[in-house]
Amino acid sequence: VLNIAHAFHSYGATAALRDVSLQVSRGEFLTLLGPSGSGKSTLLRVIAGLENPDSVERMELHGRDITRLPPNLRNVSTVFQHYALFPHMSVGENVEYGLRIRKVPPDERRAAAEEALKLVRLSSKYDRRIHQLSGGERQRVALARSLATKPDVLLLDEPLGALDERLRLDMQVELIEIRRKTGGTFILVTHSQEEAITMSDRIVLMRAGAIEQEADPKTLFETPRTAFAARFMGVEN
Ligand code: ATP
Ligand code: MG
Repeated sequence: VLNIAHAFHSYGATAALRDVSLQVSRGEFLTLLGPSGSGKSTLLRVIAGLENPDSVERMELHGRDITRLPPNLRNVSTVFQHYALFPHMSVGENVEYGLRIRKVPPDERRAAAEEALKLVRLSSKYDRRIHQLSGGERQRVALARSLATKPDVLLLDEPLGALDERLRLDMQVELIEIRRKTGGTFILVTHSQEEAITMSDRIVLMRAGAIEQEADPKTLFETPRTAFAARFMGVEN
């Protein structure tokens, strides 16, 4: 569903992406794993259209060239660590927001929002104000807001990073379940190898703006190709 070839991006003198190519299949749960500053968020931002790459040979979504397409015309949605909800709106209004700006009629919006809230187990909180919710609930609202737009690709930038350990484990299970129910294509950014191993079909390990190795979790864990990969996967050898 997504095909990127030879993407480069710099912020001033800092090279954030150095020749990154990535292919993602429909329904795949892909994790971008790597240390801080390795370019994970930049790659997501390039996919979302929030960052214009310095150069890219090809960037296609469903076979359509999206290189010059503005963010709102790409059918992708991003969930950030700091969920960026509108505090003055209700849960339902937040979830419907993306549909309202796409001019989806009210009854359809309501139905899509209720469906998305059900997926994150917040059906009963439609009329709640955001400030009346816990951190975990807020993150689930942010997830519902993205799911309601039925994106071709859902981008998750450390969505569990702000949650405590216990909640993070619960949310990992929930995300896997949501992916199973929706059959959606998910790209998750994390610097936790444990999270990557638990959740993904495939891990793309990044280092200093480039892809170090990509493989399914088992392969990456059992046969890391470099010392960096071995260290990062927590393998002693
Ligand atoms: P983290 O795990 O800390 O979120 P990351 O892998 O997401 O890291 P990026 O945010 O993609 O890394 O950053 C890649 C590089 O680009 C880093 O060296 C970072 O300092 C730099 N960078 C990122 N955003 C900007 C920006 N807006 N302006 C300047 N430099 C930036
Ligand atoms: Mg980041």
